[in-house]
Amino acid sequence: AVEVSGAHKWYGPHHVLDGIDLTVPAGQVTAVLGPSGSGKSTLLRAVNHLEKLDAGHVRVNGELIGVRRQGSRLRELAPRAIRAQRARIGFVFQGFNLFPHLTAVENVAAAPVATGRRTRAQAQERARELLAGVGLGDKGDAYPRQLSGGQQQRVAIARALALEPGVILFDEPTSALDPELVGEVLAVISALAEGGTTLIVVTHETGFAREVADDVVFLDGGRIVEQGPPEQVLVDPVHERTREFLSRVL
Ligand code: ATP
Ligand code: MG
Repeated sequence: AVEVSGAHKWYGPHHVLDGIDLTVPAGQVTAVLGPSGSGKSTLLRAVNHLEKLDAGHVRVNGELIGVRRQGSRLRELAPRAIRAQRARIGFVFQGFNLFPHLTAVENVAAAPVATGRRTRAQAQERARELLAGVGLGDKGDAYPRQLSGGQQQRVAIARALALEPGVILFDEPTSALDPELVGEVLAVISALAEGGTTLIVVTHETGFAREVADDVVFLDGGRIVEQGPPEQVLVDPVHERTREFLSRVL
């Protein structure tokens, strides 16, 4: 499970996360929607401590992320400990962020080798399996520039899976894709959801959210304005702000 409690974040005077409490139970999928600048990426980045909270904390499977308790205070963990925690939380960005000079297999195998979890040969064998799992069994030796955007994003997902994370965070994984390539990436994410991985997906794909999410969160001005099952939040929202937003994205 992912639990965000009392999360606050300021950039100077700008209150970007204004008291977020959010629980994503193990094996469930939460979709996060909201206007540009509402704090979606900041929230996601806080979950794996790419962003430090000014107040509040995050737990993943019960473990505090990025900090430890010392008396009544929270102290930041050492970089090494933070890296170890991040290895258990997959992150897929809007851009594909693949290493351009490495093949698909090498991209997927890089982290397990770098962290000493697997030998190069083991990691590459596993990378080919993961690539096959996202429909790229024949693209292992291709470089990113030889792949379409949708294929690159599927490599990025396979790469996130290579460390066998219990939780994967997706930040607008399809928004940089041409419309005809969106479906293939959403299908891979749906399969992960069915496989029981805990997912938080920032997306404006409301059709996808309706089908796949257990819970939908609407964020505005750093606050959760509305949260509930997709058929409630997306079809019959309570708040005017949610209605207005949906009327623009649908
Ligand atoms: P989008 O839909 O455009 O991706 P978002 O909901 O993901 O938006 P965030 O990226 O979380 O929004 O940003 C929330 C607010 O925090 C924005 O007003 C943004 O300008 C501000 N912000 C984000 N990162 C920083 C930073 N490093 N320094 C200062 N302000 C920042
Ligand atoms: Mg964002």
